[in-house]
Amino acid sequence: MPVDPTLDTMMAELMSFARRQRRFARFRARKRNLHHMATSIAYGSEQAMLRNKRGRSKRLLKKKLYSEPRVVFFEHAQFGHGKRGPVPRKALLRELALLCPVIPVDEFRTSMCCHSCGYVLGVDYRSRVLRCRNNPAGGGGCSVDEIDRDTNAAANVGTYGIRMLLGMARSAHLDRKTPRVLSTRSTVVY
Ligand SMILES: [Zn+2]
Repeated sequence: MPVDPTLDTMMAELMSFARRQRRFARFRARKRNLHHMATSIAYGSEQAMLRNKRGRSKRLLKKKLYSEPRVVFFEHAQFGHGKRGPVPRKALLRELALLCPVIPVDEFRTSMCCHSCGYVLGVDYRSRVLRCRNNPAGGGGCSVDEIDRDTNAAANVGTYGIRMLLGMARSAHLDRKTPRVLSTRSTVVY
């Protein structure tokens, strides 16, 4: 029976030592990247402070940092192809779960509603800054004027997550059952 010549070529390529080494290097790089992302999500800017410290002060800060209880609220975040390559979501969640408890939350309306008053902010993905027109200047009672899209979403996710941990219901403006509070005055700042 004739052997498929492509099979030989494939065998030689897949089983070659150099190729195996490259594959292992890629695997290690991916793991390193995932660990780096997970620690920066879990420990934030304090993790970056560790890099500038050496010796005893580094050990003390590390001890303090890693002994503080932390919780991560995770919505349906997706990470595209950055300079370090793609970040698989499930693998990142697994890595995060090794560091602290991870609580998945529903992202419904978290980026479109004001975290303070619940009015719908102007959603336009060309701009990162959104404006709540329910502030005193616009005749409303909200203290938020301009806010970054992601900061607002993080505030919503955080509030919801804490309410969830305390056994409270989801805020009215984030509830799937409530009709959204539309403000005709909400606009996007370009
Ligand atoms: Zn508001």
